[in-house]
Amino acid sequence: MAVQHSPLPLGGERSQPGMAPLARCCRRCGIIIGFGDRCDFCLRRPADHEDAPGQHLGRHHTEWIPTVEALIADGDLDAAEFLLWRLVEATEAEARVAQVPPLEQHFRRLGWIARQRGDEALATQLRKRSEKSKASVREAS
Ligand SMILES: [Zn+2]
Repeated sequence: MAVQHSPLPLGGERSQPGMAPLARCCRRCGIIIGFGDRCDFCLRRPADHEDAPGQHLGRHHTEWIPTVEALIADGDLDAAEFLLWRLVEATEAEARVAQVPPLEQHFRRLGWIARQRGDEALATQLRKRSEKSKASVREAS
């Protein structure tokens, strides 16, 4: 009989002791990935990368939606809020530069988080900010 080795977790050959063998998030940018430590972008990303308007950490703001949803599902509203502010800025920048309508979803989700915390003023402010961004695209086109 061959010696029985304890099975290695899939993909965990290089993980450090104590680390989960299957990371759900990229350890550099935090985007949700299927497996591994870093997303394919972070593996290649030069340190001096600068986001284009509409991007956050090298990815279009819409690519972060599943990550936002996972953070909210996990109840990590602080992390979701932090990420959503970056995405709001990215969609506003894209609206300004490329004249595409901003993605209201980021504003709405941030407003939802504000209301969860009883911050109705911030929720209202976000609604106005979204309207303003939309209006700026209409005026320019
Ligand atoms: Zn990454």
